Amino acid sequence: MSVRVRIAPSPTGNLHIGTARTAVFNWLFARHHGGSFILRIEDTDVERSRPEYTQNILDGLTWLGLTWDEGPFFQSKRMDLYRQKVQELLDKGLAYRAYDTPEELEAMRDQQKARNQAPRYDNRHRDLTPEQEAAFRAEGRQPVIRFKIDDEREISWTDLVRGQVTWKGRDLGGDMVIARAATADEIGQPLYNFVVVVDDIDMQISHVIRGEDHIGNTPKQILLYEALGASVPQFGHTPLILNQAGAKLSKRDGVTSISDFQRMGYTAEAIANYMTLLGWSPPEGMSEIFSLSEAAQQFSFERVNKAGAKFDWDKLNWINSQYLHHMPIDQLTDLLIPYWQEAGYELDAAGDRQWLEQVTALIAASLSRLDEAVEMTRYLFVADVGFTEAAIAQLQQEGTAAALQSILTALETTPLTADTVQSVIQQGAQAAHVKKGLVMRSLRAALTGDMQGPDLVQSWLLLHHHQLDRPRLQQALSLAR
Ligand code: GLU
Repeated sequence: MSVRVRIAPSPTGNLHIGTARTAVFNWLFARHHGGSFILRIEDTDVERSRPEYTQNILDGLTWLGLTWDEGPFFQSKRMDLYRQKVQELLDKGLAYRAYDTPEELEAMRDQQKARNQAPRYDNRHRDLTPEQEAAFRAEGRQPVIRFKIDDEREISWTDLVRGQVTWKGRDLGGDMVIARAATADEIGQPLYNFVVVVDDIDMQISHVIRGEDHIGNTPKQILLYEALGASVPQFGHTPLILNQAGAKLSKRDGVTSISDFQRMGYTAEAIANYMTLLGWSPPEGMSEIFSLSEAAQQFSFERVNKAGAKFDWDKLNWINSQYLHHMPIDQLTDLLIPYWQEAGYELDAAGDRQWLEQVTALIAASLSRLDEAVEMTRYLFVADVGFTEAAIAQLQQEGTAAALQSILTALETTPLTADTVQSVIQQGAQAAHVKKGLVMRSLRAALTGDMQGPDLVQSWLLLHHHQLDRPRLQQALSLAR
C-alpha cells in the first residue's frame, strides 16, 4: 500500500505552529516511505475563512520547505461531492432529517443538565413516521441531517502514537449532525467530520496524522468510513504543543504563527528542526541539528512521544544560532539585508555588497536571531550614533582627549587600512603617552558610542570605508577630557 498523507488546515488564521508541526510529521512520514503529501484547504467555514490566510498558509509551508505533491484542494469547491455522499447515506437509511428547533434542543439540554447527564442528542427524530415528518414540513421547519450512531457500538483503533484506543458509541453525543439546516428538500452545508471523511476517502489517504485535539472526532469518522463503505485509514494523534504553564499553546501566548517567527528572525531550517524535536526524539547518536531530509530518513512514529511537548524559547534560540553560525556569509547577508532595510538604514545592497558581507562576518558568531543584527550594527550604518552613559564616562577619563587627538593626527599622515591600523593605534598611544588599552577604550567609545560590541579594529575599518570614523572621533573629542 502506498503512503498518502495530508495536511488539512482551515484558513481561519495564519499558519499556526501546531498545524505546521503536524505538517512536518506528515511530510517526514511521507518522505520516509516515498509516499505522497497532500495539501487540502478546509475552507467550509465561509464566515471565518479568508483568502489572505490561505496565502499565509501556502507561503508558510513553502518557506519551511514542506513541499506538497498534490493540491491545494479547496473544500469549498467540492460541495457537490459532499452533498452526493450525504444523499447516499440518506438513501441507505443511515442518515435522516431531524426537525428539532433550536428551542427544543435547548430545552432537551436543560433537562439533561438538571438530571446531571452529559449533553447529547436523544435521537428523538430518528424514526419519524411519514405523517410526523409531513407535519413538521408543513410548519416550515428547516431540518438538519443526522447520521445514526449506535450507542452499543465499541469503536477501536490502533493509533500510531497512542496504541490501542477505544470509544463507546454512547459517548459520542447521539446521532450527529452532518449537514446544516436547509429547506426540507435540500441538503444544507455539510459539516467538518463528514467532509473530512469524504475527502480522505476520495484522496485515498492511507494515514491520518493530526493533532491530539482531534482524537474525539476519530471514532465518529470511523463510523462514517464504514457507512460509506470505505476502508478505514490508520490514525496517528500527535501530542500538543504546550506553553510553559503546561496548557495548549494558543494565541494568548503571543507569537504562534509561522510568519511571526519568520519576522522575528528565525530561519526556516531552525524552525523546521525545532518543530520536529517538539514531539519526536532522534535515534541515539543522531545530532539534534538536522535538516528535514535527514530527519525523514530516520523518522518513525515509535519515537514520537505521547506526552505534550513544552515550547522552549531557549532551545529554539540555541538551534537558530547553530544555523546562523554555520551559514555561509553570503547567504546570511542575503537574509540580513531586509532587516537592515526595514530598520531604515541607508544601504546600497548591490554596490556595498562586499562591505555588507564584512559587516555580516563581524557579527555572525554572536547572532541567535536575524533581527538582533539591527541593534548590533546600528553604529555602522547611521551617521549620528549617540553615546551611551558608559561611553560618555569613558570619554571623560583622563587621557582620552589626548589619545583621540593623537589618533586624528596619525591619520593625517597614515592612510587607514587593514595593514596600517595597528601601527596607527601604536603611534597614537606613543604620541599621547598613554597605554594602548586606553587608546582602545577611547576609540571604542568614540567610534561605536558604546563600551561593548563587535571587534573594534574591524568596526573601525568598516566605518572608515564610509568615512564615518573621522567625524565621530571629532565629535567624541569635543566631549572628552
Ligand atoms: N481542518 C482541521 C484543522 O485545521 C484538520 C482536520 C484533520 O486533520 O482531520 O484542525
